[in-house]
Amino acid sequence: MIPFLDLKSAYNELKDEFDSAVAKVMESGYFILGPNVEAFEREYAAYLGVKHCIGMSNGLDALHIALVALGVGPGDEVIVPANTYIATWLAVTYTGATPVPVEPVENTYNLDPARIEAAITPRTKVILPVHLYGQPADMDPILEVAKRHNLQVLEDAAQAQGAKYKGRRVGGIGDIAAWSFYPGKNLGAFGDAGAITTNSDELADKVRVLRNYGSRVKYVNEVVGFNTRLDEMQAAVLRIKLSKLDEWNERRRKIAALYLENLQDSDLILPAVPEWAEPVWHLFVIRHPRRDELQKYLAEAGVGTLIHYPIPPHLQEAYASLNLKEGAFPVTEDIHREVLSLPMGPHLSLEDAGVVVEALKKNSPVKI
Ligand SMILES: *Cc1c(COP(=O)(O)O)cnc(C)c1O
Repeated sequence: MIPFLDLKSAYNELKDEFDSAVAKVMESGYFILGPNVEAFEREYAAYLGVKHCIGMSNGLDALHIALVALGVGPGDEVIVPANTYIATWLAVTYTGATPVPVEPVENTYNLDPARIEAAITPRTKVILPVHLYGQPADMDPILEVAKRHNLQVLEDAAQAQGAKYKGRRVGGIGDIAAWSFYPGKNLGAFGDAGAITTNSDELADKVRVLRNYGSRVKYVNEVVGFNTRLDEMQAAVLRIKLSKLDEWNERRRKIAALYLENLQDSDLILPAVPEWAEPVWHLFVIRHPRRDELQKYLAEAGVGTLIHYPIPPHLQEAYASLNLKEGAFPVTEDIHREVLSLPMGPHLSLEDAGVVVEALKKNSPVKI
């Protein structure tokens, strides 16, 4: 059996380091906003080449607080990808603003810059591209549209720790970025965790106050804030994992290269990598018209797969009030009907990735 993702091996590879770091936190008696959070914030900012990093409770809270810091509120509109995980939309809804979906580029799955302008209204405040599946969104034309219309840009970088756009790491390209360190992400904690990064002193300051009850000085509250802090235990784990991020992303790259090379002469649609992109392969997503049959076949062959994602946000019951019917976003809807994520991760061996390829070549619904 080849699992879709093997999280236990990540712990086993560095077990002694994790055990000792977590024990030290417990012995220190310092659990909230202590030395590990500070150190992680410094180290992650340095890794990304961005001025500020603020540790957050999770990715959804990071998106939400980033929008609050940008001044988004009731009556505003935020441009979001039609093709994304629902968290991107939920964060907008929490502020009282409305998510306005825009279709992706068919072969990169990411927000199509050419379609943004048509969705802009006088209420639009922010464009929120997602670096989906670990592939950077095409940021330059997005920043250009934003500049022309005086809009701010929030990057949802939850799936793209380490990915590069034109040689620069994502997360410091727009005005502000939100990160998730959910366990399955390329940089993942042993629980919920997240961060916000920005090059703006002003935004960083706002976020620091907002995440801690609206307070800079204990028991003095400047604004109606939140409790969305990263905790010491997760920060200690993330520091260890960060030191391995490049190496682990490199292992993902090798697996992606193996899949791409061995599956190119087939009727599968494989992920396209534009020349300006250095993806980190959070997911390796293939497309096939007989997706459901293919997933069933692979399960019987002992290969674990997942669908990212089976239902687009605009067709979720949660968003029935937006009145966006089936057919409203055909590119996105086709993607959701046909995508399948193959096993991928730093602890998947190349041998096992080869077994996945062999299973696809045997009697699968795929023609190779
Ligand atoms: C994981 C994820 C989030 C949410 O992160 P959590 O830490 O689970 O709250 C947001 N956006 C995208 C694109 C994600 O993949």
